[in-house]
Amino acid sequence: MPVPEGIVPGVQTGENLMKLLKYAQENGFAYPAVNCISSSSVNACLEAAKVAGSPIILQVSQGGAAMYAGKSLNNKDQSASIKGAIAFAMHARLMAEQYGVVAIVHSDHCAAKLRPWFDGMLDADEKYFAAHGEPLFSSHMLDLSEEPIAENIETSAEYLKRMAPMNCLLEIELGITGGEEDGVDNTGVDNASLYSQPEDIMLAYETFTPISPYFTIAASFGNVHGVYKPGNVSLSPEILGAAQKYVAEKIGAPEGSKPVFFVFHGGSGSDKAKIDEALGHGVIKMNIDTDTQWAYWNGLKEYEAANHDYLQGQIGNPDGADKPNKKKYDPRAWIRACEGSMVARLQECYTDLKSLGKQ
Ligand SMILES: [Zn+2]
Repeated sequence: MPVPEGIVPGVQTGENLMKLLKYAQENGFAYPAVNCISSSSVNACLEAAKVAGSPIILQVSQGGAAMYAGKSLNNKDQSASIKGAIAFAMHARLMAEQYGVVAIVHSDHCAAKLRPWFDGMLDADEKYFAAHGEPLFSSHMLDLSEEPIAENIETSAEYLKRMAPMNCLLEIELGITGGEEDGVDNTGVDNASLYSQPEDIMLAYETFTPISPYFTIAASFGNVHGVYKPGNVSLSPEILGAAQKYVAEKIGAPEGSKPVFFVFHGGSGSDKAKIDEALGHGVIKMNIDTDTQWAYWNGLKEYEAANHDYLQGQIGNPDGADKPNKKKYDPRAWIRACEGSMVARLQECYTDLKSLGKQ
């Protein structure tokens, strides 16, 4: 199935971004959103998208952006995370075209205390918009789910006002994603806050809609970051279905319509049947990080196991005491193994999200 008309490979923003989201929702599939921390992980994602023949969402967290910039840098006032995120977006823009892939460039969770990072990225978007007529990033997530819900929505609306002239999309979080990610530990939170209420989703919808249609909601339906023993996570995607129905009724939309674009956080390790169910309730983006972290590492683990005897010194291996091992320890060899493993894992993700061959 081809992508909607008018969309050519490269990073998509504004109207084209909206077309892609609607296309996914109408056809009951979602795009994988993969956390990147280096040019290597961006390239692996683009390669995965090319193999799958489908668009991809590349995203960077605040910690991932600091890594992109180089961990030794001082991150005072988020300056390293801002520059790292910009470098990530620029790299993604150049390379998405080169790979011939339709891509969306996004920033992940930004809690209240990290707002200077968010502000810095919006500054970069505005500067890019002035020069090119579109924002640098397709979208950003502002995660004020630790704040009271009214404050979360009110502050998010202020940001959406700033983003609206650029048609830059805002993702917010309602309720709390359990587990731990990027240094935010929600492993001990009360169970009730792991499930969003339809009234809260409606409040966000009616507050944002007059400002801009460019928003998505990461609602909580028992999802957690990280991978845990089976049985420890109880996903209830029907919560999303109930919220769609509630909002549709309130706004007088036809029965069965899905007014809200939902985002599924904590996709790693999730029950495949629950993922499938979530797609039916209007989820258009699923975040995957932990499983691709494992895949990247596992590529190295297997490489080392297969080449162990050639990786113990610069010279000397089973073929002879004077044989050089340069070709084996060259980072191009083992980083490539990591990338290949991540590419393979993402094919499984595309299959789960029913988005193979959507470009
Ligand atoms: Zn998340």
